[in-house]
Amino acid sequence: MIVKIEYTSKIPKSLLNKGTGFLSGYSHSLNPYTGCSFACSYCYVRQMPVSTFRGAEWGTWVDVKQEAAALLKKELLRAKAKGPVTIFMSSSTDPYQPVEYKEQITRSLLQVMVEHPPDFLLVQTRSPLVRRDIDLLQALGDKVRVSMTVETDREDVRKQFAPHSPPIPARLQTLRLLAEAGIPSQAAIAPILPSSHQFPETLRPLVNRVCIDDYFMGDGSNGKRTKRLGLQSLYQMVGQEEWYHPAAYLRVYDNMKRLFSEDELFISQKGFEP
Ligand code: SF4
Repeated sequence: MIVKIEYTSKIPKSLLNKGTGFLSGYSHSLNPYTGCSFACSYCYVRQMPVSTFRGAEWGTWVDVKQEAAALLKKELLRAKAKGPVTIFMSSSTDPYQPVEYKEQITRSLLQVMVEHPPDFLLVQTRSPLVRRDIDLLQALGDKVRVSMTVETDREDVRKQFAPHSPPIPARLQTLRLLAEAGIPSQAAIAPILPSSHQFPETLRPLVNRVCIDDYFMGDGSNGKRTKRLGLQSLYQMVGQEEWYHPAAYLRVYDNMKRLFSEDELFISQKGFEP
């Protein structure tokens, strides 16, 4: 099904937000867009004010933050003068969602950060488009880590839970390209969706860092936001209810332990820290 997305240009008043809650390890979070056309069924932002007060369904609208680079430069220089700057990009949008192909807002922000490097930048995405910016990510050296969401290795499951998000093989291929380019990367299995026994075999050649997170630990409300989304019934509908459980992450963790050492595996917030 093709969903019509409404795009609006906005000129933001500010870009760098204070890192709080789940992101308290960061001085700032940075969202190049408001809204996200990947429209994942499990997205915790659906339950946040930015979505609930919008009056339109999450995933059907995106605000494009115009003139963002100049504003970031100003805010970044001010923040750097005050102390260490660690940035999480992004907490409530995907910086490499489809509109970024044309708008290049994220790319323009990276260009600013190459000129004025923060102490650390985490790029959180599930989009293969991040490969377009390998040149800039390389320029940031060890000050950057790309966290690629690979919530399952099963395309059939991805299509059930996040049909508008990028295919899993494209994400894996992107992790391969990032590794070849020497860019620090991790696979983020978040949230926990049903996956196959062979998942560790798929990830092992691509990353040496895997972060595992679920709704109960990682939605910023101990699973309450996710509960309101009614996700349990989606797991039931596809006959996978046993994966919607506070202990399901251990099933993935134990499976990963076959091929990853404990210091390569991170649980919840730890895996996203600078
Ligand atoms: S990509 Fe991230 S921000 Fe976008 S809908 Fe999916 S979970 Fe939400």
